[in-house]
Amino acid sequence: MTMATIMVPRNAASRRVKVKAQREMRRMWPGTGMKVTVDALPSPCFVADARGITRYVNSEAMTVYPGAKPGDPLSFSLRAPSLLEAFDRVCSSGEAERISWIEKVPTETWLEAHIAPMYMPGTAETTRPQELPDFVLVVVQDLTENRRLERMRTDFVANASHELRTPLASLTGFVETLQGPARDDTEARDRFLAIMLDQASRMRRLIDDILSLSRIELRAHVRPQTRVDFCEIIRHTNDALSPLAQDMNVEIRLDLPETPVLIAGERDELIQVTENLVENALKYGSTGKVVDVTLTPGEACEDGTEWQLAVRDYGEGIAPEHLPRLTERFYRVDVDSSRAMKGTGLGLAIVKHILTRHRARLDVDSEPGKGATFKVTISE
Ligand code: ADP
Repeated sequence: MTMATIMVPRNAASRRVKVKAQREMRRMWPGTGMKVTVDALPSPCFVADARGITRYVNSEAMTVYPGAKPGDPLSFSLRAPSLLEAFDRVCSSGEAERISWIEKVPTETWLEAHIAPMYMPGTAETTRPQELPDFVLVVVQDLTENRRLERMRTDFVANASHELRTPLASLTGFVETLQGPARDDTEARDRFLAIMLDQASRMRRLIDDILSLSRIELRAHVRPQTRVDFCEIIRHTNDALSPLAQDMNVEIRLDLPETPVLIAGERDELIQVTENLVENALKYGSTGKVVDVTLTPGEACEDGTEWQLAVRDYGEGIAPEHLPRLTERFYRVDVDSSRAMKGTGLGLAIVKHILTRHRARLDVDSEPGKGATFKVTISE
């Protein structure tokens, strides 16, 4: 025991002397080859020495951490305690580590760092654990976007199953009632069957919309190749929706150019866009009695290379706080009125995805009490 207690401080002291000698010896700066390589990497990279002093930062790191500069401690730019602790561990063990952490300020950010020791040629592999690395490479990656997408995906699955479970529960309930207490009640049976048909249609609409959304997502990066006449698509939509317009007692007024307006697009998808927008205007703006659908050259390009479709209703409109969220999946200003109108809450999400694929834009203007205008800006 006594021997051990005497030995430990001695060993530690001798190691400190050795380390100090090494530090003196190895006060070198990264060579051009290393700098060029690190500069070619797409993520922020720091090259530090084993004391934690920055020796080089690549251009990406200078963009993300504007204050980072050689000569300063690494902790001036990377403050996360878990990262600095991992850095010390990498120096003493000689083993690379990957750690992740969350920064709350200014906005929530998920970060990951890969910390790897670098030994210059001449350091024998066997002595590495005892020797400090010449340099330590810290590569930082921002995982925020990936995490957000993951969260969106899980939220979507949760929302979709919730939306499907409600009509399913109602269907099961009615089946059980018809098998039991209402077995011989003809009047109740007819009423229940009508509700069941309604619930089954709701499930079908939901599944159709979910499949439609995932089909569009699959092709999100492929730009449509065909050219279509946007005027014809709008007229087709008008014809398809005239029975609904009659039911809702709303007049659709078209104002379109006389000549065809040819744009790069997928006919079926653009029909989905126009049908969704006009149908929403008819359903949610019916109190205005009129829906105006106009197609005009875009404001930015009067030469006709850009076109703007505006679908305007004069109904109750949408309060400003809802506007930024309308294209989110399952977002509805009023869930009950959407359900009553056979809505799924996916219509505008589908519209947005189709327009993104077409490199087109959706803008919404609305003043509560005065109606809403949905504008699509699309180029030839
Ligand atoms: P839904 O299937 O519920 O119609 P959408 O994604 O098409 O879903 O629309 C989302 C929500 O936006 C609707 O539930 C409705 O509250 C609101 N909305 C859409 N268009 C209009 C409009 N023209 N006027 C008022 N509210 C609208």
